[in-house]
Amino acid sequence: MKIWQCSVCKYIHRGETPPEKCPVCGVDASRFVEIDEASIPQKAAKRTAPDKKTISAKPLSGDPERLKPPVPPKIETGFEKIQSLLIKHHAHPVSVHTPNGILPAAVIFWLMAWIFSFDLFSKVAFINLIFVVIALPFVIFTGILEWKKKYNGALTTIFKIKILAATLTTVSCLISLFWFWIDPEILSTPKAWVFILINIIMLAAAGIAGHIGGKLVFKD
Ligand SMILES: [Zn+2]
Repeated sequence: MKIWQCSVCKYIHRGETPPEKCPVCGVDASRFVEIDEASIPQKAAKRTAPDKKTISAKPLSGDPERLKPPVPPKIETGFEKIQSLLIKHHAHPVSVHTPNGILPAAVIFWLMAWIFSFDLFSKVAFINLIFVVIALPFVIFTGILEWKKKYNGALTTIFKIKILAATLTTVSCLISLFWFWIDPEILSTPKAWVFILINIIMLAAAGIAGHIGGKLVFKD
């Protein structure tokens, strides 16, 4: 059986032909490359102590590709080094969990403030959203970085939805924050439902962006 790897998201497929469409990132069959068993998951190979015999035996196999001298690693500038380190240490998924944990709390507090006309809860929600806004620039920066470097900036449906969801989250978060700042009594006015709706859209959009992120990371 042949092994095919998606060149965008690194999804592995086993079969005589590559899948019509990548089940993870959605690119078509042409983006799949055939690989051999030895080059499958580098991480798994590292964990199961590298077999030195196989490695040293490779150049003797007569394969001209193997006899080529190794390509020297590209020298990175300071900023590129930081970017590589951020990707290597999963800065995007790590940073995204900060606002993602607080965002639902903010929405719950807005809802409770609205239902029970409890002023203190709306202040709590407002403060929570300030924290979300502080975290967002780093989340967006690392997200774009990961998309460009790890997924070569591929613009398949899954990435379009993710970008749209992230934008929607940011915009609705900023609208809620500024609206409440300008009008702290918003939840006791007839327009309160619009305000609550914007917050629910924000929560749903963040959920969608997170769900896609999980799909890309875990490939299931
Ligand atoms: Zn893929």
